Amino acid sequence: MKTAKIKNSNWELPIRKIVCVGRNYVEHIQELGNEVPEKPVVFIKPTSSLIYSGDKIIYPEFSQDMHHEVELVLLIGRTIKNADKQTSEDAILAYGVGLDMTLRDVQNQLKQKGHPWTIAKCFDTSAVISDFILKSDYQLKLDEEIFLKVNGVFRQKDSLAKMMFKPAELVEYVSSLMTLEEGDLIFTGTPKGVSKVNKGDKLEAGLSDLVSLNCSVE
Ligand code: ZN
Repeated sequence: MKTAKIKNSNWELPIRKIVCVGRNYVEHIQELGNEVPEKPVVFIKPTSSLIYSGDKIIYPEFSQDMHHEVELVLLIGRTIKNADKQTSEDAILAYGVGLDMTLRDVQNQLKQKGHPWTIAKCFDTSAVISDFILKSDYQLKLDEEIFLKVNGVFRQKDSLAKMMFKPAELVEYVSSLMTLEEGDLIFTGTPKGVSKVNKGDKLEAGLSDLVSLNCSVE
C-alpha cells in the first residue's frame, strides 16, 4: 500500500485516491493552446502510478514526449462530501509537491478523438510525491513558489498566487463531485513551462524551502 509520509514525523497515511486538476494557471493554459475553463478540469490517477523522491521515472514505450508538470499537492485528512468552503479548508491536512508526469503526444491524440486522458496520465511512475508538511506546522500563504529544475536548470518556477482556483475552492468543488476521504491526494495543476524530459534527466522539484523531491528519468 502506498502512503503519504509526514515530514519530521513517523506518521504515514495510506493513500486512497489521487484527484488531479488540469488548467489552473492561465499561462500554462495558453502555452498548450487550451481554453480557460469556468470550472476546474478533473481527472484521476491510480495509486499504482505513485512513486517517491529518489525513485526512477520510467519512460513508457508508447510515448516519445513525456512532460513534467510540477504541482502543489494537498493531502486530505477527513471524509467530506458537498463541503462548504470552511469545511473544505479544514479538511486539508498537509501540503506536498508532486510531479504529474504526462505523455503529451498520447494526450493530444486522445483529445482529438474526445477520449479520456487515462493512457496519458495513469502509467506507472506518473505521480511523484514529496513528504508532506502538516498545516498545523505551516499555514500556506499562497505566495510560496513551486519550481522544477531539469539537470540543474529551472524549467518551471511560479508563485502559488497564480492559481485560478485556490486549494479550498478545489477541495470544495471536488467534494461536490465525489466523496473525499482521509488519505486522498489532490494535485492542483501546473504553472507554465512544461516541457519534454529525456532518459538520463535529473529532476528536482520543491515548494519554496518547505518540501522537495528528486528523481531521474530512465
Ligand atoms: Zn497536471
